[in-house]
Amino acid sequence: MPLDLSGLRDAFRGTIVTPFDPDYEGVRVVFNNRVRTRPSVICRCRDTEDVVTAVRFAREAGLPVSIRGGGHHACGYSLVDDGLVIDVRGLGRISFDPGAATVVAGAGCGWRDVDQVTYVGHGYAAPGGECPTVGNAGYSMGGGYGFLSRRYGLACDHILAAELVDADGRVLRVTEDEHPDLLWALRGAGGAGFGVVTRLKYRLDPVPRTIFGGAIAWPLDDAEAVFRAYRDMYVGREEDRLSLYLALMAEPYPHGQPVLMAYGMHVGPPDGADKQLAPLRAAAGEPVFDTFGLMSYYDLQQALGSEIMYGLQLKWRGGFFREGGFGDQAFASIVDAFRHVPSGYSMARFDLLGGGAIGAVAADATAFVHRSSMFNISIIAQWVRGNETEANLRWTEELMIALAPHLSGEVYQNYADEELEDWPSAYYGTNYARLQEVKRRYDPADFFHHPQSIRLPE
Ligand SMILES: Cc1cc2nc3c(=O)[nH]c(=O)nc-3n(C[C@H](O)[C@H](O)[C@H](O)COP(=O)(O)OP(=O)(O)OC[C@H]3O[C@@H](n4cnc5c(N)ncnc54)[C@H](O)[C@@H]3O)c2cc1C
Repeated sequence: MPLDLSGLRDAFRGTIVTPFDPDYEGVRVVFNNRVRTRPSVICRCRDTEDVVTAVRFAREAGLPVSIRGGGHHACGYSLVDDGLVIDVRGLGRISFDPGAATVVAGAGCGWRDVDQVTYVGHGYAAPGGECPTVGNAGYSMGGGYGFLSRRYGLACDHILAAELVDADGRVLRVTEDEHPDLLWALRGAGGAGFGVVTRLKYRLDPVPRTIFGGAIAWPLDDAEAVFRAYRDMYVGREEDRLSLYLALMAEPYPHGQPVLMAYGMHVGPPDGADKQLAPLRAAAGEPVFDTFGLMSYYDLQQALGSEIMYGLQLKWRGGFFREGGFGDQAFASIVDAFRHVPSGYSMARFDLLGGGAIGAVAADATAFVHRSSMFNISIIAQWVRGNETEANLRWTEELMIALAPHLSGEVYQNYADEELEDWPSAYYGTNYARLQEVKRRYDPADFFHHPQSIRLPE
């Protein structure tokens, strides 16, 4: 029997999409096309009032709910089978206060939208991610690591306030003075079952109009030497301005061969910054390409985002390296895996956290606990067809097994992994018990539930 949506339709001002509508599939699809979850109704909210209406309707109808922003969750937890999706993509308002260097962004905005207003217009930015279509709310409430983070902190450290619709449909203003425990939880675990965040206020950092940034790539045969040089550039050093990620890409168009790419920027005035790449350049032979030069931070973010393809099948696994684990044995295993990677769309990505402004914040000051872990690997297997799935899952698993002795067990909650047995401790460590108390206070009926949302305390 179809759901009776008449009560919802009367009050809702956005668009309601059900499996009987021709655009259902296009609205339902998320970044990971392996996710086949089929909700009964998707409420494309226009404003906070719509969110309140959707929450109250689902509660009265006894429907499970999920909250959908940019749809980039690796396991697709922004959808729910046979339930109601609160889709916040329509909440796109941005209010920028240049005098205070703050911005209020609707939960539907991506970083491209925010940077366009604050950086392109005025030379300010919050640490957005490299993918322009990731939702700012989902990203920053799970930590939020980008090129500006080692210098200025994680995106969650930049959240000053939020508006949140709770499980009773009440609109809460969340600040240091009002609901400070909830603000603490939103700074690292905001997507894990406390309510629907409709907007966030961020503090902003100055970023020069012209920065030194780009990407440089070497063939797989040089990868181990580059890994070593990269590690030595950061371990035991206070460097917080040169912000580089690594990505080992299976077969990046148009080069047709695996490459290890170092990419990022110098966060500050560009003069003399190119000298900082010298250890990497000296470690390996002729690069396959080198685009480092003067550019705007906005163009760098857009250039990298355009490399990210939407709608492939995805398996994302990984974790933080233990101290000393980012070393020769791990490098050899990773390179070996990429010599026989089954899909040309796959990659391994290496983020650099601990240290700088990220490490300067205490592990219990926000819900984001991974303050001293430095190197992170994301194994991102991606493929097109169903008959490729088994080989790609096996490849991912084998690489995880080879890396296990070198990983600490901590996992970045924004890179969710449905296979983790003890996800509470992997994502939140010693902060989990406090998160459970906040959950009990704000969602005692566990209305905002998903497979890895914070559980009520026993
Ligand atoms: C291609 C790609 C690149 C990425 N790059 C980076 C990166 O550079 N740095 C980084 O730190 N992370 C990165 N991520 C991870 C990304 O930040 C997380 O997956 C993030 O949770 C995605 O948010 P979303 O809104 O796009 O996704 P969604 O799938 O819509 O949401 C993610 C989770 O947050 C919840 N949620 C979303 N919006 C709200 C809201 N308004 N209120 C309450 N809960 C909400 C959802 O219910 C879901 O559980 C990347 C992911 C991908 C796929």
